[in-house]
Amino acid sequence: MSEQLFKIIYIILLIIGGVGRAPFAVKAKRVKDTKFYKKTREYFVLSAASLLIIPALLYVFTDWLNGFNMGLPFWARIAGGAGFAFAIFLHNWTHIALGVNWSHTLEIKKNQKLITRGPYKYVRHPMYSSFWVWAIFQGLLLSNWLVLILGVVSFGTIYFSRVKDEEKIMIEKFGDEYKEYMKRTGRLFPKI
Ligand code: SAH
Repeated sequence: MSEQLFKIIYIILLIIGGVGRAPFAVKAKRVKDTKFYKKTREYFVLSAASLLIIPALLYVFTDWLNGFNMGLPFWARIAGGAGFAFAIFLHNWTHIALGVNWSHTLEIKKNQKLITRGPYKYVRHPMYSSFWVWAIFQGLLLSNWLVLILGVVSFGTIYFSRVKDEEKIMIEKFGDEYKEYMKRTGRLFPKI
């Protein structure tokens, strides 16, 4: 019974995440005057994102991945749920803060603004922070090794192939303003 409950919690949070970000993502995608960077590599690497979601959905809707169950105790799954809820909250918050400046590949829009409000006040890549938390805690909520490992590998591939290039193009676009911003903020965690 509680297994069903964890699966339902996962799906509800996933829907909240999807519905919450949709209007911002749609608006951002409508902005056409955009310069793309490393487009082919970006699309190739982005296909890895499917491994963040598909194994989790397979776990929820089939019994094919049951051989990889971790058998975590109830409290650890609740902690997984709390962490995953935080990831969804942070993810949607970053979409609200970034607005039309968001893009799913490496892009700079002609009228792009440097956002330093909301979570961007403390961290340069809070959306990527939210994906790390997502990958780890959905694995704990669903208590499944395959969901956890494929999720971490999937987002790790995107993160490590992209983050340095993203900072490079932000410096190209915003120059000293971004360099100053880098001094005040951490990449994934706030600076202490
Ligand atoms: N790396 C950020 C944003 C991910 S969306 C995060 O993790 O929160 C990717 C796009 O966001 C990039 O192509 C870049 O053009 C844009 N971007 C990244 N940081 C930004 C910022 N502080 N202000 C405006 N746009 C930003």
